[in-house]
Amino acid sequence: MAQRDPDCLFCKIVAGEVPAEIVREGERTIAFRDINPQAPTHVLVIPRQHVPDVGSAARVGGGLVDAIAAEAAEVAAAEGIGDAFRLVFNTGSGAGQTVFHVHAHVLGGRGMEWPPG
Ligand code: 5GP
Repeated sequence: MAQRDPDCLFCKIVAGEVPAEIVREGERTIAFRDINPQAPTHVLVIPRQHVPDVGSAARVGGGLVDAIAAEAAEVAAAEGIGDAFRLVFNTGSGAGQTVFHVHAHVLGGRGMEWPPG
């Protein structure tokens, strides 16, 4: 799979071609604030590599999904919500995925309801 999709918004954020408020950068992942936050803390964790969704990321192997989840937990801790946060991978347009570069939403800082909308 290509490391980068030239038409992908999040690949452009990885490359610094589209601005974003980056909160953490790692070797394999970056984390930045969502432009339309749905909670007081709403950070997206993405791999630097272009992978469209979480299933594809699992099939890439090499612990990529683990790396995203571990980074999400680090983000939550750094944001002061490590004891109560929601981690969401919208997968497929029917489930609300709009950017097809896998991303974990890290949401917290307010009460959460279940089931989600
Ligand atoms: P999805 O709907 O695919 O699960 O999530 C995509 C997320 O990306 C949305 O929450 C949306 O607000 C966010 N987003 C879309 N465009 C941008 C952008 O240009 N910058 C940032 N920081 N977030 C974006």
